[in-house]
Amino acid sequence: MEPHRNDYRDTWVEVDLEAIANNIKAVKTLQGKDVTVMAVVKADGYGHGSVEVAQKAIEAGAEFLGVALLEEAVELRDAGIQETPILVLGRVNPQDARIAQQYNISVTVFQIEWVLEAKKHIACDERLDIHIKCDTGMGRIGLTEEHTLLELLTIIRSENALNLMGIYTHLATADEWETEYLDKQLEYFQAFVDLAKKTTGSIPYIHYSNSAASLRYPGHNYNMIRFGISMYGLVPAIDTAPDIPVSLEPALSLHSRLVHVKKVKPSTSISYGATYQASQEEWIGTVPIGYGDGWLRKNAENRGEVLVAGERCPMVGRICMDQMMIKLPREVPIGTKVTLIGSQGHQEIKVEEVAERLSTITYEVPCTLNSRIPRFYQ
Ligand SMILES: *Cc1c(COP(=O)(O)O)cnc(C)c1O
Repeated sequence: MEPHRNDYRDTWVEVDLEAIANNIKAVKTLQGKDVTVMAVVKADGYGHGSVEVAQKAIEAGAEFLGVALLEEAVELRDAGIQETPILVLGRVNPQDARIAQQYNISVTVFQIEWVLEAKKHIACDERLDIHIKCDTGMGRIGLTEEHTLLELLTIIRSENALNLMGIYTHLATADEWETEYLDKQLEYFQAFVDLAKKTTGSIPYIHYSNSAASLRYPGHNYNMIRFGISMYGLVPAIDTAPDIPVSLEPALSLHSRLVHVKKVKPSTSISYGATYQASQEEWIGTVPIGYGDGWLRKNAENRGEVLVAGERCPMVGRICMDQMMIKLPREVPIGTKVTLIGSQGHQEIKVEEVAERLSTITYEVPCTLNSRIPRFYQ
């Protein structure tokens, strides 16, 4: 028996790791064998579980891992993922460069002061792999001036421990129909790449593509893609979804079980604020999930739906911290499975539907489901 069970409760996430493997294989087929796939597993694998997803992704052919934080990379190493290179996509504190070096973790660099400070902390007889980040229009992190790139390259070359492994940028609009902004970003990036190559010779990894660019513009991705959201089977944006040439398999589903079922009289109110009133005799079920699990209150607005016995049922009244109520079509037994994301029979509620309900993007939905909900893998 595991020491810290958090699965006494009847609410759980299922992660279909085969779906993740199939999505990786699909993008690899699309890209051809010269392109390395970096599986992006930041934020606990977009809420799917970073270690499990990373292991499966590697098995399916991903040769690189991407995370946002140094601690996320260390977690993967500590879990036994030793061989696969890992890039931290965010800025690591230069004082922690030695940790990155010890764990063989690649870091993102774009500031002169960063390298100068990091030099003081690293061991000069061990390697630290660096990917230089260029800001070509995302406006987040990255260098914007050619002289900064040249200066960085000079420092990196003068320091034996520092190894230039890659150069990259990040796109701001790859999931939109309009491509003018993206074309401009690529033009700026190409100039940075040309300059870097002219200065230092060839660079092992040159990359800019996220899921949207990898899937929508295959064949234009240099030699590495950073594959995140679509590895999980989700589209980067709902309106450009028709432009995605492979059929993605969603990996995550969310389920619970009814803990209470009752018949209420007409005009009975449900939940905080008594905002819902039964219009006739109704069967109401209680589901043990709430905003304390990341199942946001907004889900119940406009009577968002869940699945019970293969039928769509509206959420009624306000979602509480740990529980919510749904309107059932008829009496069903306590313990009946409720599917909040996923399918039952011929009905399916996709992450995309939940994202639209919450007026947000697909990414936010699995990330918001917190660790109070246990994950099970199949
Ligand atoms: C998160 C992230 C990605 C992955 O993007 P998706 O749209 O999820 O494929 C790629 N690159 C960087 C720098 C990121 O932060």
